[in-house]
Amino acid sequence: MAVYRCPVCDYAYDEVAGAPREGFPPGTPWSTVPDDWCCPDCGVREKLDFENPSITAAGRER
Ligand SMILES: [Zn+2]
Repeated sequence: MAVYRCPVCDYAYDEVAGAPREGFPPGTPWSTVPDDWCCPDCGVREKLDFENPSITAAGRER
């Protein structure tokens, strides 16, 4: 499980928590999020713009 962060507004998608208000229940893998899904906070970045999990190890949040 990984965390993906929006480079613009710092919104983070956590695969463990999902994004229930976006229609992604907890445990939804990033790979199943549609490529044209936009950041729910700023709306200017799409999934492909989110930062890669390779730099975001679990537990590094906050
Ligand atoms: Zn954003």
